[in-house]
Amino acid sequence: MPEAPAVAVNGPALGPSGSGGEMLELMRALYPICRSLTGDGVRETVRLVNAVVPLEVTEVATGTPIFDWTVPMEWNITDAWIADTEGRRIVDFRESNLHVVGYSTPVRERMRGAQLRERLHTHPEQPDWIPARTAYWANTWGFCVTEAQRDEIEPGCEYEVFIDSRLEDGHLTYAEAVIPGRTKKEVLLSTYVCHPSLCNDNLSGIVVLAFAGRRLKARDLRYTYRLLFSPGTVGPLTWLARNGDRLDRIAHGIVVACVGDPGPVTYKRSRRGHAEVDRAAAHVLCHSRPDSAIEDFVPWGGDERQFCSPGFDLPVGALTRSAHGRFPEYHSSADNFDLVTGGSLDDSLDVLLGIIDVLERNTTYVGTNQHGEPQLGRRGLYGEISAGVPRAEESFQRAILWALNLADGKHSLLDVAERAGLPFAVVARAADALADADLLREAAR
Ligand code: ZN
Repeated sequence: MPEAPAVAVNGPALGPSGSGGEMLELMRALYPICRSLTGDGVRETVRLVNAVVPLEVTEVATGTPIFDWTVPMEWNITDAWIADTEGRRIVDFRESNLHVVGYSTPVRERMRGAQLRERLHTHPEQPDWIPARTAYWANTWGFCVTEAQRDEIEPGCEYEVFIDSRLEDGHLTYAEAVIPGRTKKEVLLSTYVCHPSLCNDNLSGIVVLAFAGRRLKARDLRYTYRLLFSPGTVGPLTWLARNGDRLDRIAHGIVVACVGDPGPVTYKRSRRGHAEVDRAAAHVLCHSRPDSAIEDFVPWGGDERQFCSPGFDLPVGALTRSAHGRFPEYHSSADNFDLVTGGSLDDSLDVLLGIIDVLERNTTYVGTNQHGEPQLGRRGLYGEISAGVPRAEESFQRAILWALNLADGKHSLLDVAERAGLPFAVVARAADALADADLLREAAR
């Protein structure tokens, strides 16, 4: 892959990371953990992510009111199975944690197959896949199985059913990494940590965010970055409820999810539609990923729904590849290591860091010479725009002229790049050269 053009001002650009292998390695460590909305699975997940990017953990007690919600009981599970009368396990939690409906209440009883079958969920289209189901707020229990497993349950026979779970007063756990920049203005990057053994829909977001954190930590940053790892929906709501007086710090935000499959990148705009982060994402994708999709906000999908609810209306978009529910393996045992690739994870991280590069570097300049073009030749900034000039040089030359022409204190570099139809990095490089020659200075923010 060719090196992306460098953006010089804030240290090295965050180009292709080559971290796909390491991200898969972290994913393999996270995969077996039985995560849910609350419980030790979330804590263990956070502990493993902490090895990549240091996290601060917050525990919020069961029963704490969160807007229209309440922090639920904490759920933990150690074992579960369905066995026949000889003790042979037909369904075993130890083989896949997807076998138990998330938040199942504890059960130990004998029952007829006909009655038990009502508690079994299979995949509607794929008989060999185990579906992933939850019942967070329903006070019920159930098993998720393949069609073959369900067919083994004879309606007239008796079975023993065991779910060794605990639903009790405890805590909801979320974790944050705060990576300080030169300003207190924050970029919020958020993902969820509540799915059990599912690779694309959940683990991909966790590992990409963790490695983004590691890369950002190594950099001199303009913005402060807040990486939030929390259980879906109620996690962001809990965080929002506890940080209401500091939300005006959030300048930009991106929810990262489903970023490991081979599908093209999708960016979903914030509710505002044309926030700076929306424009930065559209610009990066348009110039680097011709097969990508930019979609308008809709009030369904992932945790952007909470950040973009009308009372907050934060400039938070969502980065995915094949979005929630749009790949056949979604919420099933087939969302595993056959679906995700190191290359896709790496590419997603690259896109995320590319958008961050633009946000970091997007500045408004004022030209020190507003009347006529300055004489570029004597400053070594003028090359003939004519046949035979290399294309990259020609782009740079045009970027110089656009950056000067729009240096009226009203246009940011992203405005310049959009209007010029040039990659942001080229425009930023031109602005650097002009600033070095004292032809541009930063407008007061
Ligand atoms: Zn999901």
